[in-house]
Amino acid sequence: MLAPINKIINFSNVDGPGNRCVIFFQSCPFKCLYCHNPETINYCNHCQKCVDKCMSSALSVVDNKVVYDSNKCINCDTCISVCDNFASPKINYMSVNDIIVKLIKLKPFIKGITVSGGECTNHKQFLIELFKEVKKLDLHILMDSNGNIDLSIEEELMDLVDGVMLDVKSVDDKFHYILTSKSCDMVLNNLDYLLSVDKLYEARTVLLPNFMVENLKTVNYVSKKLLLKSQYKLIKYRKYGVSEKGVDFFKDDTINDEDVKECLEIALKYCNNSFIV
Ligand code: SF4
Ligand code: SF4
Repeated sequence: MLAPINKIINFSNVDGPGNRCVIFFQSCPFKCLYCHNPETINYCNHCQKCVDKCMSSALSVVDNKVVYDSNKCINCDTCISVCDNFASPKINYMSVNDIIVKLIKLKPFIKGITVSGGECTNHKQFLIELFKEVKKLDLHILMDSNGNIDLSIEEELMDLVDGVMLDVKSVDDKFHYILTSKSCDMVLNNLDYLLSVDKLYEARTVLLPNFMVENLKTVNYVSKKLLLKSQYKLIKYRKYGVSEKGVDFFKDDTINDEDVKECLEIALKYCNNSFIV
């Protein structure tokens, strides 16, 4: 079994406790307007638009398919900047064993792994096989998810994972649909489920400029659910990496400090483990 891996960061200290290896899977069922890595959303359709733009000859075409050579790539990301399909040609198809070989080398320096994306649960069978092997290395396992699949029926997966970082983008279904192209019903079900089984490592909400009514509604709802059980990360919207459509939609480059303060005060009223990044 192989999975499309967008990238692996060997060491990160912002994706869960301790130093962690973070594995980014390709593809996501959401199309978030504020996505910071929109090149993880779709699979490459081999339109070849990026091939000639690569100055390092890392991209070529074989049988009408774009082929990526990581040895020649200088990571300039020109290919990603010219892609209008929210995709990347820099995908490596890896087996569980490929990842485990890498993790064995990193093990002395890391506390655990975090699987992210894109949406990692798009590859849930692969995750199950990967996590079984990661457990043997005695590494902590976190899953960063948009909560789009019903985690309460994924018993095997949930038995293996130590915690989930759940994005709660909005509790207003109409607004969630505008932001992501999907309903928030399943996300909210997952919030309840993860709290009930004590597997919610953290909930996260992006605070958006010019949408304070929606920000406050979500922060109020989520912080009341979390109480003291999990941490709540409030993320200031920043336009860096966001698609043109998103930048136009949110208008401002970031959310102002007064609005952030108001959101944090509400969050701290109920969940004293709330913070801003
Ligand atoms: S990465 Fe984007 S631009 Fe490049 S071939 Fe694939 S779809 Fe086309
Ligand atoms: S990031 Fe893309 S454009 Fe840049 S060298 Fe690598 S494959 Fe080529």
